[in-house]
Amino acid sequence: MAKISINLKEGKVNKQSNIIIGIDLGTTNSLVAYIKDGQPVAVKGVDHKNTLVPSIVHFDENNKIIVGESAKEKLISAPERTIYSVKRLMGKSFHDVKDFKDHYGYEVIDEDEEKLVKVKVDHRFYTPIELSAEILSELKRRVEQDLEASVSKAVITVPAYFNDTQRQATRDAGKLAGLDVLRIVNEPTAASLAYGVGLNNEVDETVAVYDLGGGTFDVSILEIRAGIFEVLSTNGDTFLGGDDFDRAVVEYWMKQYNWNEKDIQEDKALSQSIRLLAEEAKKTLSTKNSFSGHVNHQEVSLTKDAFNELISPIIQKTIQACQEAVKDAKLDIDEIEKVVLVGGSTRIPLVKEKVSAFFQREVFDDLDPDEVVALGAAVQADVLAGNQKDVLLLDVTPLSLGIETVGGLMDTIIARNAKIPSKAGRNYTTSVDGQTNLKVAIFQGERDLVKDNRALGEFILKGIPPMPAGIPKIAIHFIIDADGILKVQAMEERSGVKTEVEIRSQYGVSEEEMAIMLLESLKNAESDMKARGLLEAKIEAKNIILSADKFLKANKELLSQEEYQQTQLLTIQLRATVEGADKHLINEAMQQLNTYTHPLAHRAMDHNIATAMKGKKL
Ligand code: ADP
Ligand code: MG
Repeated sequence: MAKISINLKEGKVNKQSNIIIGIDLGTTNSLVAYIKDGQPVAVKGVDHKNTLVPSIVHFDENNKIIVGESAKEKLISAPERTIYSVKRLMGKSFHDVKDFKDHYGYEVIDEDEEKLVKVKVDHRFYTPIELSAEILSELKRRVEQDLEASVSKAVITVPAYFNDTQRQATRDAGKLAGLDVLRIVNEPTAASLAYGVGLNNEVDETVAVYDLGGGTFDVSILEIRAGIFEVLSTNGDTFLGGDDFDRAVVEYWMKQYNWNEKDIQEDKALSQSIRLLAEEAKKTLSTKNSFSGHVNHQEVSLTKDAFNELISPIIQKTIQACQEAVKDAKLDIDEIEKVVLVGGSTRIPLVKEKVSAFFQREVFDDLDPDEVVALGAAVQADVLAGNQKDVLLLDVTPLSLGIETVGGLMDTIIARNAKIPSKAGRNYTTSVDGQTNLKVAIFQGERDLVKDNRALGEFILKGIPPMPAGIPKIAIHFIIDADGILKVQAMEERSGVKTEVEIRSQYGVSEEEMAIMLLESLKNAESDMKARGLLEAKIEAKNIILSADKFLKANKELLSQEEYQQTQLLTIQLRATVEGADKHLINEAMQQLNTYTHPLAHRAMDHNIATAMKGKKL
């Protein structure tokens, strides 16, 4: 599997592995897994102990970046330089996150409500994408150390409820970390795959995946038909999880031992140790009936019964969400055939009990609930690598697909990351009177101008009956089938004239090319916007020049010589600015011409109406 290459500069032999890794990029913890001897295994750190990497990024005084367990230790001593829960910020604008801004110990930037959020450390700003990329880089390093070879391909999981922007942000984070992200997979899909559910294309199944992590809870109902996973419904609470159990324990102790809330709040180190002890108690009670420990020279204890009573109302909330999810999926409870448990908090016996009771069946809990998503991602990766031939997969479009419109602008019809199969369409019209042919040029990419995107093909819709510009109604449809093959249809709806072509777009661009194109589109976003503005101004100006010429021709006898000449002059001036590249000059010249001709046009209109009236026989 491994490819050997030699680094000429350093004289070192680099081993490259073709293994595709599976990554669970979690809110609390992240981890990486791959298939070893046919089995998915989660990769441990250098200590050979932990597979979990806390999803925490710390910037030390010299702006050196530390990720994972050592970063977690800085949560108390340097909260403003220690970023956690970055997953909650992925693909979000400040407007989206401002309600829970106070949850963070670090600074979330609010310069522009509509823009994507950034995090500020010292004088530097970091996007959630960059921060996630740091976590991904750490995982990449881990697996490379383990394999003693470099890896470059990955599958990354996201919650089923993530939207396109959040998925794209995750993909971009992977790219920044030097990974080809072959697929973004839903966490519940991965969890099912880890248990082998969905790998047999012959069986159709309906599965519930219950995921209770550190700070988030979600439940998804999946329908698996012939290897295609469809999310029927999701429900949950993005602020409910193991942290709430810890908090309930702390509050219980405060009452029990008469601790002063204020004293604890003011002593950050103390409150953190209490919180950590509460978490330890919680974990202990997953296997034992009682816990005792020390904090600040005081002995504290907790029994399993007391703990269960504390957390019951929280678990009840998750059960209600399950109920909603089943209802939204339009299913009866007995139609759910399998229940998969995910997330560290499902180790709690009472959680298992309640979930099992609600769904009225045994739950899948043999695998480590912390690891199951990453293990499933590794299975998915293995399928992608072609090692599991008979498994079918649902794909997404990697880049936007669209057509060229007036002035060379890209008009996206199917946005990147749309689910395959997919269908979308839009209406267009002609720009010239009597136009009988229409060229449809198809492009792929994220840039505003088609010349910067990749041309996929073009065809001509012929035989449009001659009509004035703007009258024909031309519907263009893009259809991507399950194999990623794009079909483009164009039809003039008034006459029924129709053309169709087939394009293989999925294989048009390699991952590397795609990465470059995305990077370019990010880099050039600003200049693209300028270019677009200029083009639009030019198009508008040309239209105005055309109408001005028409107007002069039609109304010559109505205008004084001066009016005629002045209009002509302003038109010539506008034409000159269109040759240039200054949007403001064009706009100014348009404005001048418009203002000058406005009263003239009114006069002409009045005259034309009067003439029309005269001709009418009353
Ligand atoms: P996320 O998906 O949010 O990254 P995880 O699935 O890693 O989170 O779950 C982390 C949560 O699981 C934490 O609240 C942790 O305290 C809890 N947890 C881990 N082990 C146990 C255990 N043995 N018993 C109870 N809770 C546990
Ligand atoms: Mg998780």
